[in-house]
Amino acid sequence: MRDVADFAPLLLHWFSSHARALPWRRDYDPYAVWVSEIMAQQTQMDRVVDYFNRFMARFPDIGALAAAPEDAVLKAWEGLGYYSRARNLLAAARIVQAEHGGRFPADFDAIRALPGIGDYTAGAVASIAFGADTVAVDANVLRVLARVCDIDAPVKEPAGKARVLAVARSLLPPGRARDYNQALMELGALVCRPKNPDCQACPVADVCQARHLGIVADRPVLTKTRDITPLLVATGVLFQAGRIFIQKRLPAGAWGNLWEFPGGRIEDGEMPDAAIVREFAEETAFATEVAAKLAVIRHGYTTFRVTLHCFLLRLPGHAEAAPLPAPVLTAAQESRWVLPGELSGFAFPAGHRKLIDQLANSLWIL
Ligand code: SF4
Repeated sequence: MRDVADFAPLLLHWFSSHARALPWRRDYDPYAVWVSEIMAQQTQMDRVVDYFNRFMARFPDIGALAAAPEDAVLKAWEGLGYYSRARNLLAAARIVQAEHGGRFPADFDAIRALPGIGDYTAGAVASIAFGADTVAVDANVLRVLARVCDIDAPVKEPAGKARVLAVARSLLPPGRARDYNQALMELGALVCRPKNPDCQACPVADVCQARHLGIVADRPVLTKTRDITPLLVATGVLFQAGRIFIQKRLPAGAWGNLWEFPGGRIEDGEMPDAAIVREFAEETAFATEVAAKLAVIRHGYTTFRVTLHCFLLRLPGHAEAAPLPAPVLTAAQESRWVLPGELSGFAFPAGHRKLIDQLANSLWIL
């Protein structure tokens, strides 16, 4: 998997050859960009292009729009729906005409102050029309970045949205916001679709966490926070004679037939390190001891928010040269003692895959 620092270069390279030839992209005139952004809210792009071309023919610049009677603007909007957009467009054009000398303002705050313009549209116009280093996070961008960066909070809740915004800003290459924002939206519209994303053809697949973890269907998280069920789980990496114990889950249930490190729910009042020794004994009959705490991994899936306490385990008294013992499996169909470098060849649930990624950076265990 490549570093997320490669995300923007890969995205921009793809956009340079896959950008749709949309009329407002010819010269990025601010008036045209603004009209297109307002029309694109709640409307499919194919329909936007037809309406946009007719609208621009009827009202070719801000002056023409500002001077138009409202009935004429509504008529040009007929069939697009959400008519407050048309009324706000007209009101904003008159403000631009009266207060900005007919020139669309370039400053984010001045754009944001116009009727019908929120954070997204202000960011989009400021970046696409004027090249300002602002982000523009719409539903497409929320979805793409929640998948690429494995954001496991509901993206329509303030906390989740704030995480996406922070990621969008951190990945924005200075001076390239025009293409970066459009490329993100384009990727969401054409490749990283809500259903059936085309990961095979995706230009950022090598940096996409959700794809790496096999949880694309779980991202973005849309469930409201109040519906989330917290789960406390302990898991153990039993490391003995240079090998790690893994087991293959039973076919039924969540993650059936995937491989895992043994473990399970932490019971009420139980300490995580006690829970993993108990779980390991129940699932394998191995009497283990905790050698170290490896990590606490937080991971969301469907309606659960899992806190995974991860431990390094040993078999006390086991001589390094002695054969590795066979388990008595109660919660798995098969087991292996594998070399650390072999873990990448097995399919693990996302939480365990995250743990493996962290182990890869823990040279002391390898
Ligand atoms: S790899 Fe798949 S999930 Fe990830 S960004 Fe690309 S299309 Fe979306």
